[in-house]
Amino acid sequence: MNKQELDKIKNRALEEHIPIIMDDTLQTIRKYLENKKVDRFLEIGTAVGYSAICFTEFLSDNGRIDTIERDKERVKEAKINIKNMNLENTIRIYEGDALEILPELNEKYDVIFIDAAKGKYPFFLNQSLRLISKDGIIFADNILYKGYVMSDYNKHKQRTAVRNLREYIKEVSENPNLKTEILEVGDGLAVSRIKI
Ligand code: SAH
Ligand code: MG
Repeated sequence: MNKQELDKIKNRALEEHIPIIMDDTLQTIRKYLENKKVDRFLEIGTAVGYSAICFTEFLSDNGRIDTIERDKERVKEAKINIKNMNLENTIRIYEGDALEILPELNEKYDVIFIDAAKGKYPFFLNQSLRLISKDGIIFADNILYKGYVMSDYNKHKQRTAVRNLREYIKEVSENPNLKTEILEVGDGLAVSRIKI
């Protein structure tokens, strides 16, 4: 991994105010995945490819990442970044809305990282439950959304997002097939392991 190039991608994304994965969130995910063999990784929300590039360190030799992004400009930038890291054969970008692309997917993934529109998290969860492998693990970033989710604050203009993030937490917590932790790292990270 070309660390210098990766830092350039990270700093450019931060300058552009693109909400890339936070360092402590990545560090936490690393702890969950260090003893896992990840062949297939799915990401919902590529942005400029920063997190997908970071996640390649968790892949097995022939491992692959599929990642979905609907913003054309970001897809363009992600492709350049992925090429500059020589990862064109490892990361595949699906261009378009995850609401349409997810139902079309029909393979199993060892890890799924949800990091797109917060108002759609319950939908992303349902699709992820269909796509996750037997001993897989589903991460959802920004699950505590600046603290709004755990407070009684609901007059905010982002209340649809907050309501759906709460719904996500409720569903993963009540699902008997999942073992879930809600962690206060970064902007909040939900970790749901599939019970086998
Ligand atoms: N995972 C990235 C950051 C993603 S930011 C990283 O950590 O580096 C969230 C991205 O999700 C944005 O680029 C936004 O355009 C995209 N997005 C939001 N809703 C989406 C949807 N329904 N389908 C596809 N992409 C979506
Ligand atoms: Mg995020």
